[in-house]
Amino acid sequence: MELPGQMMYAPMLLSSILEQAARHSAEVEIVSRRVEGDVHRYTYRDCHTRSKQLAQALDARGIGAGDRIGTLAWNGYRHMELYFGVSGIGAVCHTINPRLFPEQIVYIINHSRDRFVFFDASFASLVEQIAALCPHVEKWVMLCDEAALPNAFAVPLESYETLIAGHDGHFTWPSFDERQAALLCYTSGTTGDPKGVLYSHRSITLMCYGSALPDTLALSATETIAPVVPMFHVNAWGLPFSATLVGAKLVLPGAKLDGESLCSLFEQEGVTMSAGVPTVWLGFVDYMRRTGKTSTTFRRAVVGGAACPPHLAAAMAEVGVKAVHAWGMTELSPLGTVCSGSRGYAGKSAEEQAAIEAKQGRAVPGIDLKIVGSDGAELPWDGQSAGDLMARGHWVADRYFGAEHSALDDGWFPTGDVATIDPDGYMHITDRSKDVIKSGGEWISSIELENIAMSHPEIEKAACIACAHPKWDERPLIVAVRREGSSVSARDVLDFYAGKVAKWCVPDDIVFVDDLPLTATGKVQKLTLRQRFGGYFLA
Ligand code: AMP
Repeated sequence: MELPGQMMYAPMLLSSILEQAARHSAEVEIVSRRVEGDVHRYTYRDCHTRSKQLAQALDARGIGAGDRIGTLAWNGYRHMELYFGVSGIGAVCHTINPRLFPEQIVYIINHSRDRFVFFDASFASLVEQIAALCPHVEKWVMLCDEAALPNAFAVPLESYETLIAGHDGHFTWPSFDERQAALLCYTSGTTGDPKGVLYSHRSITLMCYGSALPDTLALSATETIAPVVPMFHVNAWGLPFSATLVGAKLVLPGAKLDGESLCSLFEQEGVTMSAGVPTVWLGFVDYMRRTGKTSTTFRRAVVGGAACPPHLAAAMAEVGVKAVHAWGMTELSPLGTVCSGSRGYAGKSAEEQAAIEAKQGRAVPGIDLKIVGSDGAELPWDGQSAGDLMARGHWVADRYFGAEHSALDDGWFPTGDVATIDPDGYMHITDRSKDVIKSGGEWISSIELENIAMSHPEIEKAACIACAHPKWDERPLIVAVRREGSSVSARDVLDFYAGKVAKWCVPDDIVFVDDLPLTATGKVQKLTLRQRFGGYFLA
């Protein structure tokens, strides 16, 4: 006979994470560099009170369980309040990536049926451009005070401060099923329409616990955490919630993510750890090198969203920052793996450790991974066999928002990545399945080839793409950006591959461009490169 446990039950709601911080880390600061240009600081207690004022305001305007509320905003305290205030009443905070094309933004707002949209002043002209195309939006709210509202605006506006001002923050968060939706984020949709991933209170809370663990992101109340990854890119990888969970000081950098802005903010606020995509850290390291600076407090940077090239990890180490490689995706909330130590790691040589750190890491507890061959059979964890990476776990999507059918394949989510897993469980992404180069029946990893190009001292950025080839079906081409002042030749770079990969994997050519196109989440847009150079070897 079943015997139920006799422990207290409280649903895992995001409001309880903030409530905990407001009670147990009340005076810990949340510091925001505002789009207005100044620095704003307050505490978890203040954040809690204002989030409850927002909840009251939304409640008073008829927003309730399941309603979607859009945001077009940088990382800042008002965005934090939206994360907690909206989800706290059972509504859904839908973070919209403002770097998408306006047509995609319109599609997303209409698809999710956002009732209100809150936006930073820097997106005012975008809102003027798209508002008429979003008939379901009842209210556009600018994240500012009344005095900062523009005089002449094409759309009726309200200011955030006025919206919440009439409410006193005396509010008890409602209790409801932890499986209810809390936040919504659309994938960047490099092919086809963007697809929404609808996170629940439970899935986000469990990911926060998983991500705080010592072998994951090792979050602690003693840290000062600056999520550089935007709050519109998979909830800033959960950090606004997980930092709150542990009661760490939070530093939210706003719109300026260049090396100089980040360095000055980190030094001023004593930031100890951060997280962002490789392109952000390339800019950061470049600035530190040019100015001869090293970090005084900043020690750890989580690098994810795209592969962290080994030369970037080495350059970060030179300026005093350890790069912690992580892998994930929108559908995984996003944290899937983090590269950190495991049993036996300490006994390895520095070279072996560096080779491990170039991998994407071990599964976060709560996530399970496997790799499968083209017949769907599981492949061995030998560090050599590469196959389609599948994931399952507490914070993995089952289906896309509005989709009739589950996205799962026999209970596993097909990630679209190709990977190896070694006997210690370290997963290594060799490619996105659509980026793999299929040359004469063999597979060549585009990530490996671009990492080698980027380790050349005169190459600043590089991407490797598959180009159609009359004899081999596809052959690799490197599209590269030279460092300023360099005139390095294609031959020099090709020679640099000697001894680093098998001869037949060496790219067939290098083309130089002024810059690489980036997606809305700061990754190299390989689709655009393939459209431009895909016929290079046929010409
Ligand atoms: P997104 O959903 O926009 O965050 O994109 C997720 C995809 O980014 C993954 O499926 C991977 O292809 C890629 N990605 C994320 N992190 C890494 C990483 N550390 N190394 C290689 N690719 C990554």
